[in-house]
Amino acid sequence: MYAVLGDTGRGSEGRPNAGFIVTGAGVVVIDALASPRQGEALLRTIRRVTRQPVRWLVLTHHHPDHHFGAIVFRKAGARVIAHPDTRVLAAEAGPDALVADWVRVMGVEAMRGFEFANVPDRPVTGSDTLRLGGRTLVITHPGAGHSAGDLMVWLPKERVLFAGDLLIEDGVTMVVDGSARALQHGLAVIDSLAPRIAVPGHGAIPARPTELVARTRAYITGLQADMRAAVEKGVPMLRALATLPPPDETRPVSLNSRRRRNAARVYVEEERAYMGLEDSLP
Ligand SMILES: [Zn+2]
Repeated sequence: MYAVLGDTGRGSEGRPNAGFIVTGAGVVVIDALASPRQGEALLRTIRRVTRQPVRWLVLTHHHPDHHFGAIVFRKAGARVIAHPDTRVLAAEAGPDALVADWVRVMGVEAMRGFEFANVPDRPVTGSDTLRLGGRTLVITHPGAGHSAGDLMVWLPKERVLFAGDLLIEDGVTMVVDGSARALQHGLAVIDSLAPRIAVPGHGAIPARPTELVARTRAYITGLQADMRAAVEKGVPMLRALATLPPPDETRPVSLNSRRRRNAARVYVEEERAYMGLEDSLP
């Protein structure tokens, strides 16, 4: 079992993490990285370890930095396991605009050969157990905390969790595509698993998974309390956000942008809950 780490210390802006599991009957890859070029680099890394065929690609969610390399694995023969709900804010303007934006981020060369390959052959909306070559992977939808299509990959025997972007190195998980309430549920699920190792979606693997979960929970709980207090006092959203540093328009997932965009999302969530329009938990 291998974690392939992207960049550390760069929050959600760095290259994401990926992983792969070599079984006696083929390889399972977890996430495909942000472009065909990055996908190819990941496949080369796998090939340095094993000649086993790549059987499955599991996508932890449908943000472009986690699946835009998926076509490489499909062409290598993998079938895709993912949540069928592929909606993300970044694709609001349509798939062509999403790809055009992403080409600007990654560069034309890195995106050469790109095709969408994130629609699952094996959709997971609850929990699904994949047994392959003596390994067991439990793939679970923990609710729409980070995005509608979140999945986590749990290896019960090894007690290793691939958490996707539910966990981020700096503890500031983005909820603008999901919800703080569902993220709280997801964090509780992680605690109940008590992983020995938890691989976050971005950044270093924490020495103690419980500490990163606790840090994430403290951040999101504090934000919920602040926004709830603002709603109850009738403070308008813009004033409630005034204490936060401004977002960087060109860096939508920088720390400042994440904090501010999360605050806006959670304000709306708390306002809906206050008005009795609470969305039901997943
Ligand atoms: Zn993400």
